[in-house]
Amino acid sequence: MPHPSTQSTALGEDRRSEKLAPTATPGKGVSWIGRVTPYWAHFRLDDIISTRQHSHDFVETRAEYIAIRLRFMALFFAIVVPLWMPIDLVTLRPEHFPAIALARSMLAAFLLLIAVLTLRKLSSRQTDALLSLTIIAPIAFYVASIFILSQPVAETPLVGYSFMPSVMAAMLGVFPLTLAYGLLLSAVIVLAQLGITAYLGPLISLDTLDKLWVLMMIVGVSLWIQTGQLLMLLKLYRESTQDPLTGLINRRVLMKRLATEVTHNNKKQRPFCILMFDLDRFKRINDNYGHLTGDKVLKETAQILKNGLRDHDIIARFGGEEFVAVLTNVTSEAAMEVAERIRQNCHDTRVSAPNDEVIQLSTSVGVTQYETGEAIEATLERVDECLYVAKEQGRNRVIHRQSDQGQELIRK
Ligand code: GH3
Ligand code: MG
Ligand code: MG
Repeated sequence: MPHPSTQSTALGEDRRSEKLAPTATPGKGVSWIGRVTPYWAHFRLDDIISTRQHSHDFVETRAEYIAIRLRFMALFFAIVVPLWMPIDLVTLRPEHFPAIALARSMLAAFLLLIAVLTLRKLSSRQTDALLSLTIIAPIAFYVASIFILSQPVAETPLVGYSFMPSVMAAMLGVFPLTLAYGLLLSAVIVLAQLGITAYLGPLISLDTLDKLWVLMMIVGVSLWIQTGQLLMLLKLYRESTQDPLTGLINRRVLMKRLATEVTHNNKKQRPFCILMFDLDRFKRINDNYGHLTGDKVLKETAQILKNGLRDHDIIARFGGEEFVAVLTNVTSEAAMEVAERIRQNCHDTRVSAPNDEVIQLSTSVGVTQYETGEAIEATLERVDECLYVAKEQGRNRVIHRQSDQGQELIRK
């Protein structure tokens, strides 16, 4: 039976490389905006529209970043909102004050609760939900206060109230939001403003159009800042998580992904295997043909790995000429077959050197299955030992090992 890796499609590979940083190929695939300014050479609209093209790890990283900012924003408002009470006391009609004071206290308590909730480990959906509530709660307070203050007749000067929607729209600029989400939250703010305007007087008048225009300007600038922040975060994330030569994830992200796999394994008994590849006599390639040719060989190897693995398998550049693949939901038998096929593909690959010579590659491979309960460092150490044995036995081979206890467990 063919291993699922054979199901890896061209589309799958494309989608994976989209989730990683686009590789720098001058002149090729550069958007019109990139031709105007090189800083934007890798600008992609789908990066800012939604999180659909973002990797799971980036979505989580962005959520953590939003949660921290949200905590401070909610705390800031929780403190500032009641501080306005003395001004209310002086400026509002006496019969309005108790209701407004109660609304202010409720809003402050709610924001405090949100700040506390952000201390927990949140998923990206939960973070989005808390952010929505942090925007919707002050808007609800604004709507409620307008109702209270306009009874019986709207005569009270709305000091500190009328610019609440603009403040909320501007505050969204604090967060690295996607265009879709930023637009959604801004729409809530604009709709609330429109509703209040219609409630207080004619919707179409020079004064209301003027106010709406200012709000739309603030929303526009805020959206620009939000998506700009998102792009900057994405750029920094990609630079710090991706190997620039091969486009694979680096060791730091690999360790994070492995920690997630360990959690899945312990909770759901989902098996996974680690394959470690080390090119044979790679130093000789560098010495004989130069580092640029060495780099070309490394890129070629990364491509062989991508072609030989499934879209959701994890492939990382572990070190100089060492690569690690993590095969999820796979036991060691199937992993051995995959390793053997990749080893063979490497052996069959020819890379041309500048002097028209042809370089033949080969790789040694270590394979091991994660044993439930062990530290991931122990698994990595075991797979490294496999590589050592492969090198000792003459290279260009696959070696599989489990610990003595693990051998027993897997046999059961
Ligand atoms: P073995 O079969 O025992 O693995 O021998 P080897 O020559 O592959 O192993 P060794 O560890 O001696 O050499 C690894 C070399 O990889 C040394 C280093 O210069 C080279 N290297 C590491 N990173 C890069 C890189 O990014 N580009 C290039 N061209 N070479 C690299
Ligand atoms: Mg090595
Ligand atoms: Mg080597």
